[in-house]
Amino acid sequence: MTAADYRESLREYTPRVFVDGKAVDSVADSDALAPGIAAIGVTYDLALQDQYANLMTATNTAGQVVNRMIHVDETPHDLLAKLEAVRLVCQESGCAQRYLSHDALTALHQATFRADAEHGTEYHQRFVAYLRRVQEQDLTLGVAMTDAKGDRSKHPGQQANPDVYVRITERRPDGIVLRGTKAIVTGAPYVHEFLVMPCRTMTAEDTDYAVACAVPIDAAGITIVARPAGRPGEKAATFSARYGQSTGVVMFDDVFVPWENVFLAGETEVGGFLTTTYATHHRHSCIGARAGFGDLLIGAGALMIDANGLDPARHSHIRDQMVDLITMVEGFYACGVAASTYATEHESGTVIPDAVFANIGKLLLANQIYDMHRVAHYVSGGLVVALPGPDEDHNPETAAALDAVLGGRGDIPTGKRLAVSRMVEDLTASYQGGWYSIISLHGGGSPEAMKREIWRNYPIPEKTQLVENLLNRGVSGQRPVTARQPGKCCATGCQPLTSSTTEQGCR
Ligand SMILES: Cc1cc2nc3c(=O)[nH]c(=O)nc-3n(C[C@H](O)[C@H](O)[C@H](O)COP(=O)(O)OP(=O)(O)OC[C@H]3O[C@@H](n4cnc5c(N)ncnc54)[C@H](O)[C@@H]3O)c2cc1C
Repeated sequence: MTAADYRESLREYTPRVFVDGKAVDSVADSDALAPGIAAIGVTYDLALQDQYANLMTATNTAGQVVNRMIHVDETPHDLLAKLEAVRLVCQESGCAQRYLSHDALTALHQATFRADAEHGTEYHQRFVAYLRRVQEQDLTLGVAMTDAKGDRSKHPGQQANPDVYVRITERRPDGIVLRGTKAIVTGAPYVHEFLVMPCRTMTAEDTDYAVACAVPIDAAGITIVARPAGRPGEKAATFSARYGQSTGVVMFDDVFVPWENVFLAGETEVGGFLTTTYATHHRHSCIGARAGFGDLLIGAGALMIDANGLDPARHSHIRDQMVDLITMVEGFYACGVAASTYATEHESGTVIPDAVFANIGKLLLANQIYDMHRVAHYVSGGLVVALPGPDEDHNPETAAALDAVLGGRGDIPTGKRLAVSRMVEDLTASYQGGWYSIISLHGGGSPEAMKREIWRNYPIPEKTQLVENLLNRGVSGQRPVTARQPGKCCATGCQPLTSSTTEQGCR
């Protein structure tokens, strides 16, 4: 589909949606949601441009060319292409949202394969049939994973109100019935379907909560209560009135799901694996997304410095700030590249990004997003939040006087300086700026979740063995070496990744 086709395709659905207290009759025509629809549209239009074909499309195992955002990764090259594709779409849109579809599809491919191997179920075949339909119809899927959760210290089954978690309330011969609440779903009003997945590892008592399935957004019993996407209609929102992201609370009020769309129903241990592998894929994608956003900050910062009449080559404190920004963006992006290169193979014929590098990259960006905003503020100056509103640009009593004094370097029009300043405000100091901070901090899991994964996966025993060897004390009695540093696991080491290399030489 083109972006326009995608927008039109939303007319085939009649979801129950509320935004700012009002019912939305037509999602495709909603001004409040238009920037979100436009942002996802970027993933459709770029995939049709020849110059981006390698990044934005892939060939599936059935030989069909599909959008990269709904492809399942089969090689480390796929992971790298996805990382770059996500960076590309986020350079254009700030956040194109649709990579969540990719992350969930790849995770479900792996989890359903594992469920069948361990439980003799038939989820994988079912899921692959579903995947083909999604790819053929070029759909966008929302990820309904984060439950409302209630009291965080309690497990799902211990909550005073059971509806704070989505669960199976009935198993019927033809399907299951779902009830509960997913609290934060990106793009909820304007995706085609939701992929429902568990958001935490479950105990044996939580069997009914270990559920994964696909549900059309207009299935009977679903209510979506959403925020506007970006800053629609705000004149000062030079960027986020055009591209934005809505998030929705999605309530499931006894929603029926036929078995053909159910991919997990009670296998708690596999549910834990699904949560973890999704998190690894998603954190890897977050790295590409925030690098694309970082590119916008680097560009806006450099333009602001120009407009202010400063030369980073001469004013070293300004250059230092920009180098800090570049180092942050390319530093966490490099973790994404490493996570792609050192991917591990999964028995389902797919790959998983290296968990340590994917989690370190996401942890870095979660913390550094605030420093990235600081650099943009540092080099730009106070005008970012002090500039009179856009209506003043056309006020006959003030416009000329302001134009004469608010300029910077003589050969750069005042209007351009003000436009870049409003862009920096939009990206860093507006509601949308706060959105970029908080999605970076909590999206894909809060920092503590990444720290746990880094600690769980990092090969500490390999490092202690190194020192034991140096101390010449032998290694008996040491913890077994169960994992090794990527690239150091055999004598050959990993083969460098090229476009023709589809497999690593080891691991
Ligand atoms: C803009 C945005 C878009 C998002 N999009 C999606 C989406 O499309 N789909 C989706 O499923 N999710 C989405 N998320 C949700 C995201 O995954 C969660 O925000 C994240 O997992 C944290 O959960 P929470 O927001 O409920 O915070 P909380 O769980 O309330 O966490 C708050 C703090 O408490 C800590 N904490 C929580 N529980 C415990 C505990 N038991 N013990 C100790 N400490 C604890 C956390 O570490 C954190 O520091 C999105 C989030 C944002 C901000």
